Amino acid sequence: MKFTPYWLDTAPQGPDRSRTDIGGHVDVAIIGAGLTGLSAALHLARKGANVHVFEKDTVGFGASGRNGGMATTGLSIGLRDAVARYGFDTAKAYLMAYHDAVDTLETLVKEENIDCDFARTGKLNLASKPAHLDGLRKTHEIMSGRLGLETRLIPRSEIHTEIGSDRYHGAMVEARSAGLHVGKFTKGLAEAAAGIGVTIHEKAPVEKIRRLQGTRHELVTARGTVRADQVLVATSGHTGRPFRWQQVRIAPVGSFIIVTEPLGRDLCDMLLPNRRMASSSMNLLNYFRITPDDRLLFGGRARFAMSSQQSDAKSGRILHKAMTEVFPQLTNARVDYCWGGRVDMSMDRMVHAGEQDGLFYSLGYSGHGVQMATHMGKQMAEYMNGTPAANPWRDLPFKRIPGHFGPPWFLPFAGGYYKFKDLMK
Ligand SMILES: Cc1cc2nc3c(=O)[nH]c(=O)nc-3n(C[C@H](O)[C@H](O)[C@H](O)COP(=O)(O)OP(=O)(O)OC[C@H]3O[C@@H](n4cnc5c(N)ncnc54)[C@H](O)[C@@H]3O)c2cc1C
Repeated sequence: MKFTPYWLDTAPQGPDRSRTDIGGHVDVAIIGAGLTGLSAALHLARKGANVHVFEKDTVGFGASGRNGGMATTGLSIGLRDAVARYGFDTAKAYLMAYHDAVDTLETLVKEENIDCDFARTGKLNLASKPAHLDGLRKTHEIMSGRLGLETRLIPRSEIHTEIGSDRYHGAMVEARSAGLHVGKFTKGLAEAAAGIGVTIHEKAPVEKIRRLQGTRHELVTARGTVRADQVLVATSGHTGRPFRWQQVRIAPVGSFIIVTEPLGRDLCDMLLPNRRMASSSMNLLNYFRITPDDRLLFGGRARFAMSSQQSDAKSGRILHKAMTEVFPQLTNARVDYCWGGRVDMSMDRMVHAGEQDGLFYSLGYSGHGVQMATHMGKQMAEYMNGTPAANPWRDLPFKRIPGHFGPPWFLPFAGGYYKFKDLMK
């Protein structure tokens, strides 16, 4: 079994960018070579800016190369909670931002000709308990009835049209969500950005940052110091000390994934015949899908811990048990990959983007960032060029997480809280 992300292991390797020269003046410096940073770099360079991306590790090392590869259309908090919190019109605007985000991703795939198995196969929300089907029904009524979106309710009696499992009490299908090979997409985005002049510096952690004036900053790395007219912090669950204001507003929560050996088309047709992006309805949910080469990818917040090889292995065992409970057909299937990553949770589980003390940032995707990080890269390019309305999240206050001073000591407590909520749900 490999403890590396399947997506990065099966994507083309880019050139070595770890020996680039760092110094002088740039128009825009971007911290983080994930989907936010690379998409912003591409869109800013298209406008003629001289853009440099600084990455602590390598392209896609963060959540962007480690996720489920699901570009779904839903908010992290769910539509009904969003309506209760923000009112119908605002919740609708936030939801539609996710639809725009999947469109942005699809457009980029086409424009840049990125070979990444993008397909709008749809999303399957599975009811883990009988009462959860009522919740899905209410969501379906709003989405289909009031918003005119393409959703369908699947009763338990018809569940085998969507999934080869008896574990669930019904489901809701949403048609516009997509799946993709996110390793190929992230690497493809890096090549597209580099192709129009973006310089990507790998193994180049930004260690210090000093404000010069307005949005102008000096960035210090071990390979050199650079001055930038604008800086975008695109560091997600890896946001560290140089970006203190952002760091204490983001909880890096571990999420873990296993991928089986290739299962063959026939078995995959039995497990998920329509190749939907599936997730269960618990707070500590599981998400799963078929990969482009017919493996099952199965993920979840198996444990409230940070990713490390030991932690990933423990989480892998928990996920394997959960996977075989859903799909007993896979009891003897070999697990080829197991890895973990950091989800960047904000207090309100909403995206936060804007400018603070002259630093631009886009963070807090809360587990729904494949599409939104890509989209926010594009939107931040507009925002940084003086169009505030380009930022759909501009009115949300970005609250500090109480008691968060750096290391996330509070994760086991948060885990206990969510487990309790699932028991009571
Ligand atoms: C296991 C897992 C499963 C997920 N599944 C899904 C899914 O199926 N669908 C979905 O929509 N979302 C999913 N997500 C969330 C999604 O992957 C992220 O929201 C998204 O990739 C965030 O992209 P990003 O570019 O903002 O951050 P990242 O991809 O995390 O990139 C941030 C980068 O910043 C770099 N960095 C940090 N500090 C510095 C520094 N000081 N100097 C230089 N570089 C620095 C890091 O090394 C990192 O590479 C998942 C996340 C995880 C962890």
